[in-house]
Amino acid sequence: MAAEQFPAPSVAEIAFLGRSNVGKSSLLNALVGEKAAKVSSTPGRTRAINFFLLADERQRGRLIFADLPGYGYAKISKSISAEWPKFIEPYLQERETLGLCVCLVDSNVPPQPRDGQLIEWLQSVGRTFLVVATKVDRLSGNVRTRNMAALKKELEVEEILAVSAKTGTGIKELWGRIEEAGTGG
Ligand code: GDP
Repeated sequence: MAAEQFPAPSVAEIAFLGRSNVGKSSLLNALVGEKAAKVSSTPGRTRAINFFLLADERQRGRLIFADLPGYGYAKISKSISAEWPKFIEPYLQERETLGLCVCLVDSNVPPQPRDGQLIEWLQSVGRTFLVVATKVDRLSGNVRTRNMAALKKELEVEEILAVSAKTGTGIKELWGRIEEAGTGG
């Protein structure tokens, strides 16, 4: 996949980022279900960006979700994109219609340097991002509170939104944030 294969920039885009197995596919399903039509992807390749055009429902306006390839478990690398296809970094840095980067972290897993590195890099290039902790249904009250606090501290962010694709926790809130970003609000 090369940058020329991206759909022409049109409506606001929301990018979804996270390590492999973080629960990205499940979350996208919980957010959009069958309502999204894949507008562009390279068949059979998980290393591509998959663009989903969302139906104009509930006055959400038109939006594109960009599902980015999951990154691996490799040690901190010099460049954020060392193990990513070459087009990812320019996409995140230059895409003019990109309104929000949703950075997924697993609430069940200790803070990962790799996630921190990505967030730091997004900040350095001036991108708006939201950290979302997945699979919170697996955690009980106390552990959940503790894990969320640890993630906030290590990732050095003010806010983390806790979600579960399984129970629907946080999905409505996440939609609210996405809509805000999509309308430039
Ligand atoms: P991806 O590789 O980031 O797309 O991750 P998947 O969506 O395929 O999920 C990875 C694993 O986590 C699968 O076994 C899912 O069933 C599980 N998973 C994803 N979301 C949730 C969730 O909200 N709750 C629970 N309990 N498991 C989840």
